[in-house]
Amino acid sequence: MFLCRFNDTHLGVVRGDQVFDVSEAIDALPQYRYPLPGYDPLFAHLPQLRERIEELVLGQRSQPLNEVKLESPVANPGKVIAAPVNYQDHIDEAHKDAGIHHNAAIAPIDQAGLFLKASSSVIGTSESIRIRHPGRRTDHEVELAVVIGAKADRVSREDALACVAGYCIGLDITMRGPEDRSMRKSSDTYTVLGPWLATTDEIPDPSVLELSLSLNGDLRQKSSTSTLIMDVPSLIAFASSFYTLMPGDVLLTGTPAGVGPIKSGDILTSRISGIGEMTTLVS
Ligand code: MN
Repeated sequence: MFLCRFNDTHLGVVRGDQVFDVSEAIDALPQYRYPLPGYDPLFAHLPQLRERIEELVLGQRSQPLNEVKLESPVANPGKVIAAPVNYQDHIDEAHKDAGIHHNAAIAPIDQAGLFLKASSSVIGTSESIRIRHPGRRTDHEVELAVVIGAKADRVSREDALACVAGYCIGLDITMRGPEDRSMRKSSDTYTVLGPWLATTDEIPDPSVLELSLSLNGDLRQKSSTSTLIMDVPSLIAFASSFYTLMPGDVLLTGTPAGVGPIKSGDILTSRISGIGEMTTLVS
């Protein structure tokens, strides 16, 4: 199933170039009062809602996808976790270009570890990336994004994929420079998620996905998740060995070679096989 959020408050199922409004399924979610839970309620209850969503699709008239405004597939991610150096070809290009990792020694991911991005940086494809510091180099990084569907506390590699709700395309927009990653990569709009969530039944194996990014029509990044240094199950196990993963948490799995600067007016086209394609404007 391809699940989207659209027009601010609606939940949809994408089939071909059409979207079916299944927002009624949201009514079955528990009603919360303050203090709110520290996870995304939709992803905490998605398995129970699934049948209702399928029923609602049957009774709905669809509307063309290109007439709706797509929001981030996750409304309330508790945390956005990201892998800094997880493709060998990106490590190689960072060794050649000091502007990428600011002359810092580039440690392998098992030593460099993971970092967190502010959840307030998340947008969907209907919003454009707004460059916060135009005087500073700001790069595109296309990545497979994993959305957590079940609480995972020190989960084993073998059990890790059972904690996943699905996958989407992620853009980890990055201002280069000496500041901490959590600051440079956390500006509003610097985490693009979309165009929708492909649930795990659509993607039984996240280690065989082709990903690419074009800038104004020129191919800049092209790779496969088969070349990830730390694969998706290992990343989940690694992350959950430090903090509990909750439904709706997002894990950006790292970017391959070909990162480069973006500027106002650019158009980014990102693709991941099994998920789809998204177009993102830079303003
Ligand atoms: Mn990245």
